[in-house]
Amino acid sequence: MVDEGMHYEGNCIRPPSEAYSILLQVTVGCSHNKCTFCGTYKDVRFRIKDDSIILSDILFASKYMKGQNRVFLMDGDSLIIPQKRLIWILDRIKEHLPWVKRVGAYANTKSLEMKSSKDLKELRQNGLKILYLGIESGDEETLKRIRKGTTGQNLIDMGRKAKEAGMKLSVTVLLGIAGREGSLEHARATGALLSAMDPNYVGALTVMLIPGTVLYEEYHHGKFQLPGERELLQELREMIAHTNLTRGLFFSNHASNYLPVKARLPKGKQEALDLIDSALQGEVALRPEWTRAL
Ligand code: SF4
Repeated sequence: MVDEGMHYEGNCIRPPSEAYSILLQVTVGCSHNKCTFCGTYKDVRFRIKDDSIILSDILFASKYMKGQNRVFLMDGDSLIIPQKRLIWILDRIKEHLPWVKRVGAYANTKSLEMKSSKDLKELRQNGLKILYLGIESGDEETLKRIRKGTTGQNLIDMGRKAKEAGMKLSVTVLLGIAGREGSLEHARATGALLSAMDPNYVGALTVMLIPGTVLYEEYHHGKFQLPGERELLQELREMIAHTNLTRGLFFSNHASNYLPVKARLPKGKQEALDLIDSALQGEVALRPEWTRAL
């Protein structure tokens, strides 16, 4: 089994900061799979992979991935795995990959609701030290429209719960997701949500239209208007202006964005706003459209 290699299936995605991690696929697909902008797991039925396959991949990594000291548990929402099974996976990682310093996973509000604070602390003690949570927006109307399956208050509560368990929390927000009309409202509400949740990292991505998604259809039927470059910059500016973190990193350096920004908050807020203002005045070059990607 060990020399079969890693048993990857389908579209494997991971956060940019996990690029050098051992990518261990423990689930296939996403347990929610309803967000209107997301085409990653469109026709994939969510399931947890067999323990024997997971163990085989861990053993393969123990032989060939000794230089990587982080593990990322794919796919969309590994935190949904029942507690006992997840602890078993973390134990096997500890046993066979003793050099690994941090395990990370995507989470959503449903999987965070299903874990008690005690469960989360137990996971933290067993190596799961960072969770990635897609917020997308703090605006209730937008959350409903994109079928995020949660509310702003629930996002705040679940994010805080993860942080209180001692986990690092990295969240993503989506520029442009509220369309042209809702742009600034979305920016302000998202800034307020981020301030209330107070995550360690915020990554702002720009929405992209993926064929086959509901959002793509809405766009082509004139029901959704994508903000232009300038509007997206104004949205980013408004969002940062309304975001107050006690100590966090706000970045928009993803390949989908027009302007890479990296701000340590609260200290670097003004500098980030000044940079965006310079870009709005045409003094800073934006990433050309053809180089933007997901
Ligand atoms: S955005 Fe995340 S939660 Fe929503 S369907 Fe895609 S993978 Fe699932």
